[in-house]
Amino acid sequence: MVKRIFNFAAGPCTLPLPALEKAASEFVEYGSSGMSLIEMSHRGKQYDAIHNAALASLREVFGVPDTHEILFLQGGATLQFGMVPMNMKVEGKTFEYVNTGAWAKKGILDAKKIGPTRVIWTDEAGKFMRMPKAAEIKAGADAAYVHVTSNETIGGIEMFEFPDTGSIPLVADMSSDILSRPLPFERFALIYAGAQKNLGPAGNTVVIIRKDVLEKCREDLPAYLGYKTHVPDKSMYNTPTVFAIYMMKLNLDWVKSVGGLKEMDKRASKRAGIIYGAIDNSGGWYRCPVDKASRSRMNVVWRLPTEELEEKFLGEAGKADFSGLKGHRSVGGCRASMYNAMPVEGAEKLAEFMAGFKKRNS
Ligand SMILES: *Cc1c(COP(=O)(O)O)cnc(C)c1O
Repeated sequence: MVKRIFNFAAGPCTLPLPALEKAASEFVEYGSSGMSLIEMSHRGKQYDAIHNAALASLREVFGVPDTHEILFLQGGATLQFGMVPMNMKVEGKTFEYVNTGAWAKKGILDAKKIGPTRVIWTDEAGKFMRMPKAAEIKAGADAAYVHVTSNETIGGIEMFEFPDTGSIPLVADMSSDILSRPLPFERFALIYAGAQKNLGPAGNTVVIIRKDVLEKCREDLPAYLGYKTHVPDKSMYNTPTVFAIYMMKLNLDWVKSVGGLKEMDKRASKRAGIIYGAIDNSGGWYRCPVDKASRSRMNVVWRLPTEELEEKFLGEAGKADFSGLKGHRSVGGCRASMYNAMPVEGAEKLAEFMAGFKKRNS
């Protein structure tokens, strides 16, 4: 029997056991090929079938319409911080950013290196405790695009209303909440995500780009950095991240088997509701610092009365097989990251543990 603990780490994420077991059973020899998947040609029939199935599954499970192209790239969401402005740069236009916290800031830093960049909304003074309402975001007439971060993984805030930017392309970093809820795709020009939070293991990066926006992307870039490069060969311009894409496909198979996107959405609300409930019902002993309307369903952050108690909490939680609950080093406290494959039972057990810890220590 293998031992599986509840992994609340912010990324890489926990993955469903059936996907891991399937991969293990197929690892040494894939099909009857006489070799493993990671040894065979990515131009061969067997990998080609996996690659196409992964693309088709993501389109089906996430509900990506034909108006949008799906790309599998490398370099994580971090490379997208640079690739987005490089590809969408237009002379005389400005990149516009909504500054919602740590990840948005990294995008802004890279954009500034590529061209004129303007922050059109920020809650820096409020320490990034809330997301803007849709109506607070006004795109400038000279904007090349407006960039938002749909979920700030470190701060624990999530965007539940997306701005209406009219004819200005809306770009979103969805690394930590992709595939957790249905999306109005028609609103988005480009969505990107490192796969290792909600989609699979690290290595693959997903870019979903509207075809008319893709058409206008720059062509004067080194080959890999141009989005257009990756279209004709369906993201096989060079060697793709074979194993990461295969694992993502197995994860998508699992999502489909348990009820698809709707079920992921339901589970996310349920898990988050349980942990926020444990915080709210503690009489102020546990405190969630973020604005109620912006509370992330993916990353729940909270504090205890003192840092000493936080340290004790994390120590005891670790011994009780709850892993990865330490808040990001930049903000401290505790954080429970609950991506698609986190069972509701994990949240229930953690809430129980939180109630017990409070009883013993207050
Ligand atoms: C994790 C994360 C990133 C960075 O992703 P990498 O794939 O590691 O580059 C960017 N944005 C958000 C919102 C994230 O959560």
